[in-house]
Amino acid sequence: MEKPPYSIGKGIGLFFVLLASIPFSATVVILDTLSKQIKSQSQLEEEILKEKERLKLDNVSISGELLPSHCDGICYVHDGRYKILVGGAGATASAIRHEMKHIRNRVSGREWPKPAENLAELTLAMYSREELSATLYQFFRINL
Ligand SMILES: [Zn+2]
Repeated sequence: MEKPPYSIGKGIGLFFVLLASIPFSATVVILDTLSKQIKSQSQLEEEILKEKERLKLDNVSISGELLPSHCDGICYVHDGRYKILVGGAGATASAIRHEMKHIRNRVSGREWPKPAENLAELTLAMYSREELSATLYQFFRINL
């Protein structure tokens, strides 16, 4: 039997995943808003240094850039050097902790998470081990 191009079961499942993600996302936004705001490049570098020590990343090259526009936190690696970007209202100490935990996970040998291409993938990614690990560290410093 031929499979239909679109499965209603999957659609309903996704709807409930999206619905369940609302309180999780709201909590993340509220907790992040309460976190210390990063106002300068030197403050950003200070936060990175603190987290490098906490996460035992002393030998890892990590820099940061404070962007003029809103950015909740992006981290990437190029030539073995990590870089964290934050900006606007998204430049918080907690956003830096989140990205630093992603770096810790990479250094520990975990693979980079696949970038989300749409809202559904992004929602599912939020429930993945990687994002939960980064979020738990971001707000509660639970290092899983
Ligand atoms: Zn993340």
